[in-house]
Amino acid sequence: MPLREQTDVKEVEATLNEILNINSPPVARCRLLSSGFSPGHALNIAEDIAGHKECLACGCCIDACPFLFREPSRREKTEQRTSMALETIVGGDCDQCDACVLACPQVDTTIKNYVVNRRMIEVMSRLEQRIGDEDEPDLDLFVEEAIT
Ligand code: SF4
Ligand code: SF4
Repeated sequence: MPLREQTDVKEVEATLNEILNINSPPVARCRLLSSGFSPGHALNIAEDIAGHKECLACGCCIDACPFLFREPSRREKTEQRTSMALETIVGGDCDQCDACVLACPQVDTTIKNYVVNRRMIEVMSRLEQRIGDEDEPDLDLFVEEAIT
């Protein structure tokens, strides 16, 4: 089975950066920029779904979100485990850490590689600047727990 042709980041770089600069969960938009199901997917359905870009409701993005780790009570707002649920319960409080993008099985590896290679230094430095900010005690707690 041939590997699917993934999104060429050079062709979508401007759009991708716009998405990653928005203060809102980026995973759904990155999923839609991606190439969708592989022709060799293992779902047991007869219909050819190669290229479909739907959310699988796997919840990987929700599990990877550090904001929800710090504020688990937000998860109680819905039992859904979709990108829509992530947008609803995180919204404008998004740390813009891009962890959800890296966790999503429906986001192309090309886009994940771009995030790791071109965006992570900026992300880490932005988060580092917030450590020690008295207005953000939750972030301090999160970093302390991660270190210990
Ligand atoms: S905080 Fe990070 S993982 Fe959570 S929604 Fe925002 S970018 Fe995604
Ligand atoms: S990680 Fe799963 S739940 Fe989140 S957007 Fe991707 S497919 Fe949907």
